[in-house]
Amino acid sequence: MGTDCLFCRIVAGEIPATIVRETATTLAFRDIDPKAPTHVLVIPKEHYADVATLAQGDPGLAGEVLATATTVAEEEGLLADGFRLMFNTGAYAGQEVFHVHAHVFGGAPLGPMLCR
Ligand code: AMP
Ligand code: ZN
Repeated sequence: MGTDCLFCRIVAGEIPATIVRETATTLAFRDIDPKAPTHVLVIPKEHYADVATLAQGDPGLAGEVLATATTVAEEEGLLADGFRLMFNTGAYAGQEVFHVHAHVFGGAPLGPMLCR
């Protein structure tokens, strides 16, 4: 995908980010506009637009994103009290960045799953 994609540019080191974990295939960095005390984004380094495309195209890599998200949650001290993983996918979910990312939220009660 390359230069058109914000998160590919973070992977390439062209845009700074506060990286909290890196594996051979995934990257985790702090959200620039955190919506919870802990708010980390976990992405595959390879470009997929959303979680549906990732899960259909490379389910093993989707699993690696989940594994990294869980390690981040553990390292951030979220396992005891709980945390939330979220993949916004497409227009109805309000997805803004079309490079798949898991939001890892925690550090305080997160409220209801959705607002009606
Ligand atoms: P989504 O609405 O699920 O596509 O979420 C996109 C997320 O990316 C938002 O929570 C933004 O705050 C976050 N974001 C946008 N630009 C950056 C950036 N340069 N570094 C870190 N997070 C970002
Ligand atoms: Zn990308």
